[in-house]
Formats: sequence, structure tokens, C-alpha cells
Amino acid sequence: MNDLSKNYINGEWVAWSGETIDVHESGTGEAIARVPASGREEMERAVAAADAAFESWSESTLEQRIKVLEQLHAGLKERAPEIAETVCREVGMPIKLATAIQAGMPATVTKTYLKMLPDFPFNEQSGNSEVQYAPVGVVGCITPWNYPLHQVILKIVPAIAAGCTVVLKPSEIAPQSAYILADILDGTDLPKGVFNLVCGHGHTVGDTLIKHPDVRMVSFTGSTRTGHLIAHAAADDFKRIALEMGGKSASVVLPDADLAAAVKGTVNNCLLNSGQTCTALTRLLVPADKHDEACELASAAVAKMTPGNPLEETTRLGPLASGQQRDRVIDYIKLGIEEGATLVTGGPEAPEGCNPGGFFVRPTVFGNVKPDSRIAQEEIFGPVLCVIPYTDEAEAIRIANGTPYGLSGAVWSADGDRAKRVAGKLRTGQVFVNGGAFNPVAPFGGFGHSGIGREFGKWGLEEFLEIRSLQL
Ligand code: NAD
Repeated sequence: MNDLSKNYINGEWVAWSGETIDVHESGTGEAIARVPASGREEMERAVAAADAAFESWSESTLEQRIKVLEQLHAGLKERAPEIAETVCREVGMPIKLATAIQAGMPATVTKTYLKMLPDFPFNEQSGNSEVQYAPVGVVGCITPWNYPLHQVILKIVPAIAAGCTVVLKPSEIAPQSAYILADILDGTDLPKGVFNLVCGHGHTVGDTLIKHPDVRMVSFTGSTRTGHLIAHAAADDFKRIALEMGGKSASVVLPDADLAAAVKGTVNNCLLNSGQTCTALTRLLVPADKHDEACELASAAVAKMTPGNPLEETTRLGPLASGQQRDRVIDYIKLGIEEGATLVTGGPEAPEGCNPGGFFVRPTVFGNVKPDSRIAQEEIFGPVLCVIPYTDEAEAIRIANGTPYGLSGAVWSADGDRAKRVAGKLRTGQVFVNGGAFNPVAPFGGFGHSGIGREFGKWGLEEFLEIRSLQL
């Protein structure tokens, strides 16, 4: 049992002797770690530390900030195997993928900021004015469990680079990588109080953080439900917010597309991290006359993804992160059957050959899904694909845009210009055209109920900056 009964406040590990939260191994269900269910006073202390550190960190030089981020980058590289195994055990992403993504992306993203910072215009001229970009203040960062370190890095690296100070409230379901991060930062030249970590429940310490008057911005990744609470709380004292929330992304396969490539690309994307990815392409929109063939292709692609022990190098599909999430996904699979969708493969029963204590779900494909049904409208956050037939391009676009979300999407066509034209009609923050690669310096975020603001690259940094103009 990894005993992490402590918080990181004002440059020191502060022991916690109160109630704790157990962290479970996704593949076995066993408790593997414990973290504090901190009280509101711990959060108050952390905010006070961040507030006290702001004045001097906001005036730190770019060289100082770059040096700390270089040290962080080196630490992330050095501890990558430990990060990968930790997240693999907590979240269930197979170790090979966890090494590349859960451990690899944090270092990659940090590097992109290190490359960008020397040339970032913190001052620019506009007519007779000097425009200055100033750090927003103390930032509260609240993060989810599905990419637990990556989502933290996307916030704290640009926040620190901007000159802000930070209080992080990580997910209580997958918190251990945040402790590794705090440990790395503890070994850097970051002044005390610039980064603080408090672990606990959302409705207690999270609530204190989002309502605290000394917190000038909340940067949140998580569910749309919690995002709502944050937007309401922030309105009271006009805090700035950046919200990265849920999705129900559509993969639009146009009639002239290579159907096999489109279905394979969509299934792989949908099942990544067992469907626990906010941008997952969970709705596959196909011409009605190709629906049955698409279902067969999807079923064949899913058959290659047998769920198994995420710690094994050959496993391609792991369990879900928690028992609660598994039960939620199984309920959605039962709902899909009740709603009259065709069960192409999978189902609510536990998959064979997996540890019965683990949080495994059978990868499932539904065909003939009605665009307005609940399984086509609500975020399931599990390995469930909905195949939806359409009659013409206009209807495909209408269905793709027909949910409250707008995070991601995909378009497939043999004609690149046509694919781009249709992509331009999707009301989402990003669209993958004919399987275009993920880009860590492209803006990432959502339309509608998927979010406010953007992460990655210069857009991610600008979120943490206020604008001041000096008329000269
Ligand atoms: P969640 O909203 O339940 O929890 C996220 C964080 O918010 C946790 O740290 C939690 O403790 C905290 N929280 C909960 N209630 C709170 C409250 N009342 N006040 C303050 N904080 C509170 O989300 P989750 O289940 O951990 O994550 C899954 C969700 O995250 C999915 O909807 C997924 O789509 C979304 N997500 C979005 C992105 C994106 O970039 N758009 C990325 C990853 C995950």
C-alpha cells in the first residue's frame, strides 16, 4: 500500500492524519494506495501559500521560469517508467500505451512550452501603446482521472510559465502521478508556494478552491456536471474559467471514403484507454447503404481488442478506472438494448478470462442507433461505439452537430477538399481529417457543453494571462 497521507503546501510535505481515500488497482480491484480526504482548512492554507508567493513569482524572469520547466522536463523523462506503471494500474490503460501517452505526453507538452517560451511576446506594440501580458494570479487547477498527469501538466506548465501560482486538486480516483509531479517540482528551483497540491473530495476541498476569493482563475478538466458548478461559482466574483469537459464526438464517413480505413481508425480511437477519453469518436456515422458492412468491419476490429491485464505488454484493451465507472458503462449497454439498438458485438456480461475483481467491460458496438436516443446523446466514457446510418451529407452534418457537446470529430472522404469542407461545418473544437495525426501544438478545447477556452500551445498559455495596455 502506497501511503500518501500528505499534501504539498508552501514547498513542504504536510502530513495528514485525518480520513483517507483508498485508490484501487483497476485490473484487480485491490486497494493500492491511500491519499488524504483533506479538510477545507488544508485548502485554505494552500491558497494562502499560493497567494503569498504570487507577488515575487509574477515578477520572476523568463530565464527563471524556463530553468524550472527544464528541470521538470528532465524529471518527467527520468521517472517516465514509474509514471507509466502508476497510471496503468490506476486507470487501466495498457502499459505500452501508458508509456507512450500517459508518461510520454507530459514530457512532450512541457517540451513544446520550453520551445515556445523564448519567443513568446509578453510585450507588444499597438500604435502608441505597449500591450503587456500579465499573469492572472492564483490559479486553482482541478483535474480528472482518465489522463491524470497529462491533464495536470496542460495546466500547471503554462500557468507557471505565465508567472501564476497554482493550487492543484487532482482526481481522488487516480492521484498518485500528481504526487510524483510534486516530488519532481520539490527538487527544482521553484520557489516555495508557487505550486501546491491538496488531495481530497470535490465537494469539500474542490468546492473551497473554486469559491475562494483569492483564487483568480479556475482551470478545470472533468465532467460537464462539475463544470456547471464551477461556472456558477466563478460568476459570483468574476473569476476567469477555462473548462475542458465531456464529448460525444462523431466520425463522419462520407460515401466515397475508404470504409475499412475509416471504421478501423474510428474503432481504435473510440477504444483508446477503454473509451475513457473525452475526445473519443463514439458515434460512427455511415451512409445507410453501407451500415451493415460498417458494423461487420467494426465487429472485426473490436474482436482484436480482447480485454486483459493492462500490465502485460501485449494487452491492447484494459479495464475501466473504477467499479463505479464500470457499472455506469454496463448500465448504458443495457439501456442501448432497451432502446432498440442492434447489439452487434459485446454486451453487459463480464468479459471472459479477466480477473473478476477488476473493472472490465466487454467492448461493445451498437448498430442502427437512433441519433436522438440516450446512448447516442450522452457521454458513456467506456468502450461503446454507436453506428448511426444517414441518408445524405446534410443529414450527416445535422446528426454530427445534434448533441449539446462539441469537442472533437472526424471526417473521412477520398476527396480531401470535400472532407475539409464538411469538417468546417462541424461545431467542434477539433476535427481529424482522413486520420490526421494528433498535434501537441494545436489548440484543444470544445464548443458548447464541451468547454470554454483552449489548452496546448500558445492558446494554452494565453488562458493564464491578463492584458494591460500602456498608452505612451
Ligand atoms: P468529475 O467532474 O467527476 O471530476 C473532475 C474533478 O472535479 C475531480 O478532481 C473531482 O474531485 C472534482 N470535483 C467534483 N465535484 C466537484 C465540486 N463540487 N467542486 C469542485 N471540484 C469538484 O469528472 P471525472 O469523472 O473525474 O472525469 C471524467 C470527465 O472528464 C468526463 O466527462 C470527460 O469527458 C471529462 N474530460 C474532459 C477532457 C477535456 O479535455 N475536454 C479531458 C479529460 C476528461
